[in-house]
Amino acid sequence: MTKRVAIIGAGPSGLAQLRAFQSAAEKGTEIPEIVCFEKQSNWGGLWNYTWRTGVDENGEPVHGSMYRYLWSNGPKEGLEFADYSFEEHFGKQIASYPPRAVLFDYIEGRVLKANVRDWIRFSSVIRWVEYDPDADDFTVTVHNLASDHVYKERFDHVICASGHFSSPNVPEYEGFSTFNGRIVHAHDFRDAREFAGKDVLVVGASYSAEDIGSQCWKYGANSITSCYRSAPMGFAWPDNWEEKQGLVRVDGKTVFFADGSSKDFDAIILCTGYRHYFPFLPDDLRLKTANRLATADLYKGVVWAHNPKLFYLGMQDQWFTFNMFDAQAWWVRDVILGRIALPEDKQVMMADVAEREAREEASDDVKYAIKYQADYVKELVAETDYPSFDIDGACEAFFEWKKHKVEDIMGFRNNSYKSVITGTMAPKHHTPWKEALDDSMEAYLQN
Ligand SMILES: Cc1cc2nc3c(=O)[nH]c(=O)nc-3n(C[C@H](O)[C@H](O)[C@H](O)COP(=O)(O)OP(=O)(O)OC[C@H]3O[C@@H](n4cnc5c(N)ncnc54)[C@H](O)[C@@H]3O)c2cc1C
Repeated sequence: MTKRVAIIGAGPSGLAQLRAFQSAAEKGTEIPEIVCFEKQSNWGGLWNYTWRTGVDENGEPVHGSMYRYLWSNGPKEGLEFADYSFEEHFGKQIASYPPRAVLFDYIEGRVLKANVRDWIRFSSVIRWVEYDPDADDFTVTVHNLASDHVYKERFDHVICASGHFSSPNVPEYEGFSTFNGRIVHAHDFRDAREFAGKDVLVVGASYSAEDIGSQCWKYGANSITSCYRSAPMGFAWPDNWEEKQGLVRVDGKTVFFADGSSKDFDAIILCTGYRHYFPFLPDDLRLKTANRLATADLYKGVVWAHNPKLFYLGMQDQWFTFNMFDAQAWWVRDVILGRIALPEDKQVMMADVAEREAREEASDDVKYAIKYQADYVKELVAETDYPSFDIDGACEAFFEWKKHKVEDIMGFRNNSYKSVITGTMAPKHHTPWKEALDDSMEAYLQN
């Protein structure tokens, strides 16, 4: 009987899995029946922009955490698909930091070409997954939101690709409930114009804080203050941006910081991260991990060591994204196709996890972390037929990006890098990022 494989989520990771199976089928390999369940009505995951916050049109928690005017926060040369270049998609080389709509178009282009849309059941949320040891398979409970029908199906394998930047981590500080302004988590931030003319506090010191603060600055906020717990971001910020340590409490519009200073704000944006959140998985199948490069309990970063018929994609903290999801998807596909054998002993898998954790913890240097993840991608790519590409070259693009941010945090997106897939240099974008207020695809692709 043909095996059945369930994929949860049609974001970049789930779509990578569809493309991986389709590429095997294209070469004549017999593949299992693949069913991808996606709770949204379209694919693209976080890249499928929605203006909604809170709940979606079906009353489900909104998945989207992306905002209008979001441009890639790293160079596209670090994420390019090895089997589908930007030049193939756009018919020309494009600049290095595309806005969201451009990247969505690129992600979509590859799966349209692969013709896998029919493998996806849209508006279908996975409510529960259960493993039956007697039958050695999974029963998946699905809610078809369009027809409001709940049903169950059985699968030999489940691949969880539901993302981990959607369920917000929301701290509470003294005085929040009586703050005379708006408090919003990054997950619900959509349009920076809302904060024009305002004094904005961004809480956090990671990518969201940096980018959401920059968005608000670009679209006319009066001032930005970012506050950190352990270390400042430390960039050469514009004059109306300052960094403060430790939010202590709030009184009315006034926020008090650890150094004894205070300032009045119109809005507080919590850039305080996300949680790995899988409400559809029971204890024995549910990943519990910090947001790190070596995820807990995943052999080779993808196989659930406690039940190796379950896989997770894209659960790591991410330097590499689309191409890493590809490497994982091709590798998982080959396990399911029987081309790659897993260790029979769970202890061997757990030793692999422990080794990865120790290696990650050996240094907190950023270059080390980038190389660490590059080595991981290399390791997986080498074991499958995913087209090999210059992963060290992609690292170089990341190193340059880091340098360019230190040189000019509001100008780093004006730089260009060389594609490691086609070898072509990206053109310089026609308008500096801070002046490019129209981020539509048409505007971006103009010569
Ligand atoms: C604000 C922000 C900016 C980012 N910017 C960049 C960037 O510039 N460059 C970059 O490379 N990466 C960026 N990322 C990282 C991002 O994680 C990846 O690019 C990518 O979207 C991850 O893909 P994914 O498929 O693993 O997860 P997601 O994109 O989150 O997709 C998961 C999918 O699973 C679906 N799903 C979830 N639960 C269920 C369920 N129970 N049943 C059915 N379907 C379900 C969701 O609807 C969604 O479609 C950014 C992330 C955020 C939050």
